[in-house]
Amino acid sequence: MKLIFLGPPGAGKGTQAQLLMHDLNIPQISTGDILRKAIREMTPTGVIAKGYIDRGELVPDDVVIAIVRDRLQEKDCENGYILDGFPRTVPQAEVLDTIVEIDAVVDFELPNEEIINRLSGRRVCPKCNSTYHISRLDGDTCPGCGEKVIQRKDDMPETVLNRLEVYEKQTAPLIAYYKNKGSLRVVDCTGQQVEGVYAEVRKVLGINA
Ligand code: AMP
Repeated sequence: MKLIFLGPPGAGKGTQAQLLMHDLNIPQISTGDILRKAIREMTPTGVIAKGYIDRGELVPDDVVIAIVRDRLQEKDCENGYILDGFPRTVPQAEVLDTIVEIDAVVDFELPNEEIINRLSGRRVCPKCNSTYHISRLDGDTCPGCGEKVIQRKDDMPETVLNRLEVYEKQTAPLIAYYKNKGSLRVVDCTGQQVEGVYAEVRKVLGINA
């Protein structure tokens, strides 16, 4: 299955992609994770991407498209994948259409207040990449591996508001884009826990329990 997970930052795309990745045995391709790794390793792509990410802006299309093009050539993509956070603009979607045929696009919907609460309380483990909400953490260590969790710079309040604006302007038009193609499946995440959303994701994708 070749899937796209679409939705505002903080809607839980990454968490859901990780669950489905294990169940379907296909990789999760998160452009955000790839870019953050490039920044840590100070690669030329990382150097370009850093300023954009820190400001909550989108990294230029050509940079992200090149990353995805390369990643999709890898062997583990043969049986499908979950694109998590790509495409984020109509031009990115148009290029993707020339590379692959996507089976379904899952659009995770969540009201802005809930997004702000989730993102400002989000903590990530720099070692195992797990994410948690502070309300579920006991202290500041990762329950999975014991590393000290951190707050992403772009989850700070001012940047979160900018990311939401960027989402509305540049990414939300993709909802109509994929609706027109007939591949859009909507999942309403309002007030739902991870397990409830996951059940809904499986349902809209027609995956049996
Ligand atoms: P994420 O982890 O998906 O929230 O992505 C974090 C940041 O990486 C975004 O705010 C953007 O700056 C950048 N980014 C990730 N994916 C893309 C994309 N498809 N197009 C442009 N920028 C992206």
